[in-house]
Amino acid sequence: MGGGFMRIETLENRKFSLKNDSGDLELFFIGVGSAFTKRNCQTNLLIVKGNDHLLIDCGTKCSQAFYELGYPITGVDNFLITHSHADHIGGLEEVALLGKYMTKRKPTMIISETYQHVLWDMSLRGGQAYNEENAGDILGFNDFWNVIRPVWLGNFPRETFRVQLGSIDIIMMRTKHIPDSSHDWQSSFWSCGLVIDEKVMFTSDTRFDRDLIENYNMQFKLEAIFHDCQFFTGGVHASLDELNDFSPEIKSKMYLSHYGDNWEDFEDKISANGFAGLARQHQYYIF
Ligand SMILES: [Zn+2]
Ligand SMILES: [Zn+2]
Repeated sequence: MGGGFMRIETLENRKFSLKNDSGDLELFFIGVGSAFTKRNCQTNLLIVKGNDHLLIDCGTKCSQAFYELGYPITGVDNFLITHSHADHIGGLEEVALLGKYMTKRKPTMIISETYQHVLWDMSLRGGQAYNEENAGDILGFNDFWNVIRPVWLGNFPRETFRVQLGSIDIIMMRTKHIPDSSHDWQSSFWSCGLVIDEKVMFTSDTRFDRDLIENYNMQFKLEAIFHDCQFFTGGVHASLDELNDFSPEIKSKMYLSHYGDNWEDFEDKISANGFAGLARQHQYYIF
């Protein structure tokens, strides 16, 4: 096992909460499944640290997943979206409409100006802009969301932003997810992965991207990497066979997420090949 000083706890010993007393950085997987999972929820990640929290992605199943944890999604204050697939944004309309018309609380989104236009104009607008008129005009993104702009960092090998949310430090870097033919992050549609508190990477959705992992691992001396994984090669995600090409050092701290419902068939292969393992739903990864 790699992973430095990380430890794992399950939900059985504790109550689900958006805070912790320890002040430790905790990653809690609302789900670990693929876009089409029926057995796990989709890979949406809750970060908790002291009194601060941040939900990374909010897919179609996310609101139901919170309900089943005994906590309404309207209690989540802070969101960050990695890209526009429905397993990452499909729950946002519900969050926005509940906030505006039911709880009267505006949630906050960490989002770059570029991606805000993409998210609103290409995905959310149809379901949100036309519910009422505001002084003769349709509604806009800012009628539903408070916005925090991450700051662009110039000295990185690819487009990278940084933001501080209370005690949580987030670095967002562009990734190579779609289309399946793109050669690099520049030729890909907008998507990002994260480095949290300069020690944990969450790739969200990406194709195999050696440069991303090796570069940022060197830069930050990562303690753990949570990487998306599919069990076949091809399409828009990194496959188990491709990820197997990383060094033993990297694999020993790499947990796989965003996986298919047939994961039991691959658990032996995953451990035999030296990966840290599968990320598990409803587990706390504590740093
Ligand atoms: Zn996805
Ligand atoms: Zn995706």
